[in-house]
Amino acid sequence: MFDNLEWISPDPILSLSEKFIEDRNPRKVDLGIGLYKNSNGITPIMESVKIAEKYLVSQAEDKVYKGSVGLDGYCNKIISLLYKDAPEIIAEERVTAAQTVGGTGAVRLAAELIKSYSPRRIVWICDPTWENHRGIFSHLGVNIRSYPYLNEKGEFSFDCMIESISKIPFEDILVLHGCGHNPTGYDLTNNQWMHLLEIVKEKRIFPIIDMAYHGLADNLNKDSYGVNLFSEQLDEMFVAYSCSKNFGLYRDRVGALVILGKNKDHCSKIKLHASNLARVNYSSPPIHGASIVNEVLSSNELYQIWAAELERMTTRVKGARKMLVRESSEQGCSEIFLGAARGEGLFSTILLNLNEIRRLKEVYNIYMLEIGRINISGINKNNIEYVVSAIKQVAGT
Ligand code: PMP
Repeated sequence: MFDNLEWISPDPILSLSEKFIEDRNPRKVDLGIGLYKNSNGITPIMESVKIAEKYLVSQAEDKVYKGSVGLDGYCNKIISLLYKDAPEIIAEERVTAAQTVGGTGAVRLAAELIKSYSPRRIVWICDPTWENHRGIFSHLGVNIRSYPYLNEKGEFSFDCMIESISKIPFEDILVLHGCGHNPTGYDLTNNQWMHLLEIVKEKRIFPIIDMAYHGLADNLNKDSYGVNLFSEQLDEMFVAYSCSKNFGLYRDRVGALVILGKNKDHCSKIKLHASNLARVNYSSPPIHGASIVNEVLSSNELYQIWAAELERMTTRVKGARKMLVRESSEQGCSEIFLGAARGEGLFSTILLNLNEIRRLKEVYNIYMLEIGRINISGINKNNIEYVVSAIKQVAGT
């Protein structure tokens, strides 16, 4: 049956990771896959997560099925965390959530709902964006187009973005990054979110805000500004939430599709359809990681530990960013790292071409995505000088 299959390229991020693991050179540096790394280059299990997990394992009595939209308690906790500064949305009972298989599963479920119930609408994604946005929507046969995020010099341009979004047809769907934009690290200011909201309202656009880095760009409150503002002022929207990075639960696959509707009935109905789509896809999401998040967010003590750990992680990423800016200025190649100075969160794009990026890997054992994205947290005191000088060499500056 599959005799005529053609060879295709493997996923660029996952295959880069595999190559990094196979590389035996001790000076190798991984700036590729989007994992938080501490100053020793390790992605640790968070202390709060370890405590909650130990407790849950000691208490567990069964592993019976849960429903297609997972744990209610977990979903409610994610809603409370996200809308801490917008409690009226919860009080008005016009928000609900479905547990999903990571943030990817949340985007996928949103895409399935669009495909099933509004297939003619075009989905507008950012250029550049997390590559899987394109993959997920196009795989389902949803029409996608892109709006620009950068100007021709590769700098973030709100004007270019707004100019393009203001021309999109009424009632189309707009995918936005809540914070820690992947791959550029450029986030909207509060004023820019307000400006964008006016266009979204005028055009009756349906937004999907991808929230994969809550707390890792600036802090939990500031990072949810755009989501809160849009949710307060719009009748309908989705938030695709991920606990992969802010709880470090990557392979436990913990996410949620947060559903905003006009009222309780409206969002419950959407959730029911989401539940049916999950049922025919994977039946029900994995419960282990979601129980951990539920436990951490339910206990005041664990919450404090978790929030402090997350803050330390974010401070470390900001420190690595500063280190990069300082070192590149000392080595006289700041212009390659302009994005690092202005961006937030785990990522930044640097101005190297494909050949230069490949040389970086082959000659210097430094791994980054071919679209120019680096994971800022892959940088630490031990490798900063080497990374900057290698990048300077390949760029020929
Ligand atoms: N959206 C964006 C923008 C991301 O960067 C990621 C993770 N790389 C995801 C969604 C998906 O995260 P998860 O691992 O939870 O599926």
